[in-house]
Parts: sequence; C-alpha cells; structure tokens
Amino acid sequence: MPPDPHGLDLYVGLIHAPLWALGPGLRVGLWLCGCQRACPDCLSPDFWAEEAGQKSTVTALATTLIRLAQEHKTSALTISGGEPFGRGLALLALLKDLRETGISDILVYSGFLGQELLAKYPTISTLVTALVDGAYETLNPSKEIFRGSKNQKLWLFDQNLKDIYDKWSCQTQRQVQIIASQGQIRLLGVPKGRDFENIMDEVASLRPNLPLTLS
Ligand code: SF4
Repeated sequence: MPPDPHGLDLYVGLIHAPLWALGPGLRVGLWLCGCQRACPDCLSPDFWAEEAGQKSTVTALATTLIRLAQEHKTSALTISGGEPFGRGLALLALLKDLRETGISDILVYSGFLGQELLAKYPTISTLVTALVDGAYETLNPSKEIFRGSKNQKLWLFDQNLKDIYDKWSCQTQRQVQIIASQGQIRLLGVPKGRDFENIMDEVASLRPNLPLTLS
C-alpha cells in the first residue's frame, strides 16, 4: 500500500450506512474514538479511549466513506464520537479529502464549543456543513431531534443547505436506529430522556448475554 500523503491517523469506533437517525436524510455515519472530557452524562464512554477504535490513515478512511456514500447513493455524512476534534488536524485532512471527492453535506457533533473550534480551526466554516457543539447534559433536555440538551447549538456554515437543516432541526419526533455491529447491538441517534435506557432494558431482557451500546 502506498504511504498516506497526510501521515495522519484517526481511530474509528464505528462506521455505519445507511444512517437516518443522526442528521437530515440518508447519510453515512462515522464515530471517532478518543475523548478526554469524561463528561458525567456521556452516552458514548466506550469511545473515550482511542485504543478502543481501529487505527486508520486519513486516506484509507476517506476511501471507505466515499465508497459507502456511493453505494448508498448519498453525499451526506455525519461525524460523531468520542470527540471528532481530538485529532483536529487529522479530521481537517479527512474533511478536505471528502469535500474534494463529492461529499457535499458534512454534519459534525463535537463536545467543544463552536467559537472554540472556529478560533482554532477557521477552515471548518468551509469544510463542515453544520456543527452541533457542546457536551450532552442529561438535566438540560431538549425536544429538538438534532440535540440531546439545550446547551448544544447548531451552527450552519453552508447556507445552501439552510432549508434542509431548518426543516430537520425543528423536528421533535425522535428517531432511534438499532443496528448490530461487531457482536453488539447499538442504538444510533439522539436520546430523549430515558428512551435509550428503556430500549436497552427491553433488548437485554430478550437477549440477556448480548453486549449493548449507545452511540
Ligand atoms: S465531549 Fe462528548 S464524547 Fe466526550 S465525554 Fe463529553 S459527551 Fe462524551
């Protein structure tokens, strides 16, 4: 295999397509491992450690995501984690590769605030379509489907997709996607109250030995 031109790696916790529970329309989903914030209400503690994910070069990851997008006839991608900006330069390189190969709608969930990210990585305003910022707070729930808690804000950088994102972000009917991945049942989406825990309890009662995970 030729050397990766970026020389940068990312740690992948999960890739899933089609994804329809995290972002407008049909998408490819990428969850990156690595987050040091240890928020008490975090829904994805299994993605805190980078080593929990599979190490991948930026180029190899971009190739996989583009192939999946083509297979599922979408140009939309959602990136969550973990903390996608934990390896910010690698993420920027990935975003650039994806943009250059036709991924036109990239939604990123980050525990950092939008203003912090813009100060550190100004190019995200051209590489990212929309950003949902801030860590999830259980005691501050939101009704809108794009966020778990009211402290989280939607930053729309690409005004060409304003209608699509406006329509999606005002919806309150939550969707949860249940998938099987690597011997585990995972629930994808944004939680509402104890929805995820209740579904997990239900699945666990049916399959007591099956590992269950939120994403
Ligand atoms: S920033 Fe996000 S992924 Fe990291 S610990 Fe907080 S809620 Fe979890």
